Amino acid sequence: MKKTCVVVLAVATLASSDGRAQDGRSTLEAAAKALGAASVKTLEFSGWGYDYVFGQAYHGTSQWPRFNVPAFTMSMDFAAPAVRDDRRRAQLESPPLGGGFQPLLGEQRQIWVASGQYAWDMVGGNPVAPRIRDDRRPTAEGRLEQLTLTPHGFIKAAIANTAAVKEETIRGVRKTIVSFTTPVARYEGILNDERMVERIEGWFGHVVLGDTTIEAAFSDYRDFAGVKFPTRIVQREGGYPLLDVTVTDVRPNAAVTIDVPAGIRNAKAQPPVGTPERLADGVWLLPAYAQSVAVEFRDHVVVVEAPETEAQSVEVMAAVSKVVPNKPIRYVINTHSHFDHIGGLRAYAAEGATIVTHRDNIPYYQALWAAPRTIGPDRLARSGRTPVFEGVLGHRLMTDGSRTLAIYHYPGNMHNPTMLMVHLPKERILVEADSFSPPPAPLTSPPNALPNLIHWYEAVQRLKIDIEQVVPIHGRVTTMDEARQLIERFSPRQTN
Ligand SMILES: [Zn+2]
Repeated sequence: MKKTCVVVLAVATLASSDGRAQDGRSTLEAAAKALGAASVKTLEFSGWGYDYVFGQAYHGTSQWPRFNVPAFTMSMDFAAPAVRDDRRRAQLESPPLGGGFQPLLGEQRQIWVASGQYAWDMVGGNPVAPRIRDDRRPTAEGRLEQLTLTPHGFIKAAIANTAAVKEETIRGVRKTIVSFTTPVARYEGILNDERMVERIEGWFGHVVLGDTTIEAAFSDYRDFAGVKFPTRIVQREGGYPLLDVTVTDVRPNAAVTIDVPAGIRNAKAQPPVGTPERLADGVWLLPAYAQSVAVEFRDHVVVVEAPETEAQSVEVMAAVSKVVPNKPIRYVINTHSHFDHIGGLRAYAAEGATIVTHRDNIPYYQALWAAPRTIGPDRLARSGRTPVFEGVLGHRLMTDGSRTLAIYHYPGNMHNPTMLMVHLPKERILVEADSFSPPPAPLTSPPNALPNLIHWYEAVQRLKIDIEQVVPIHGRVTTMDEARQLIERFSPRQTN
């Protein structure tokens, strides 16, 4: 009897500390009115600031690399829904540590668009299907989430999704907490006593991070033609800054027309992994935007790189089992810790393969992989297996008499401190990531990451390894000659 009383009391205490129940709908409508959101069908805002490239940190404990954004314009159509994110970007990090195509030479124009189920990039005035797939950045869903991450879009989505509304006292100040779930994510926002949105947090499942958050914080609201809008916006994803901008101009109900280009609407879905290409006896390239190489040993297979996503790994594993039947993939070698190179690793661990990576990555991966995965649990989460890692320091040889494979660490690369490359001495093949990523046609202007290319080239020369083919994780299979010619042509040392 006593026990029951205690339980009832505890529930009553919780309810009062959580604040009184409210008429949620009227609160949201009051917020919509205060912001001027109800009349806003389209929104265009512009300004300047910084952006950061998610998943491309220099190493495990550093933030995403930061870039200058001298100007940006976001155009949104809430009804369509559609978004166009137009940024001018320039190098900021010095030295250029980390990924994200550093160092940028001059200014880059980046235009990301999404409408309904379609997403595309504008490159040189032409619509192009986005290629990177390790995150939500290239997906229509991920891009359209930017609508919900504005105060106006958030309140509209809260009304449409019948948000739960409650009041709470946070550090002595009364706040309104608004929470709801869409097919994309679960969101919670905090409104201040003037019904302005201060903060939004969305939870989603990520291939590398597991259950994680995207956050937006708003401050310094101003009136723009009857609409209140923050002049400072800071977004964070996976705990680190993603965007930090000052808004200088807001145009509510601007003429925003975002039509899906016919080429994008009619494009056939490309399989992420192409037909395996034989590089040498028992050595196969699994072609993709971020590709893998399979190497056959006497009784097993070693795969170099598990890029992008679980879905890609599943396709690669299926393709490997066709060209090398009846041999398990026992090892997968990971070149470095950027998310487009580790997004598919967990799928191999789920099958019992050992992950071979630079020793310094192991505690980082173990920490990432220990994160809860309740949102869309992947194969490894469902398998209940404990992943097995083996670390490389310096170099390591894998051999079974029939095949020899050498793994080399090349330290000091500004792209990432854990860079590994893989050499097949008999076949004279070198597999490398992100140091040399030749586009389809030979380069006629200096590559962005020339310092990284030179660093890698010099490491290969020092090691005196014999190479005929260079197989990049991104780009066209080539030769060391092409790398040497590029360096001779564009290196500042050669022109001095
Ligand atoms: Zn990288």
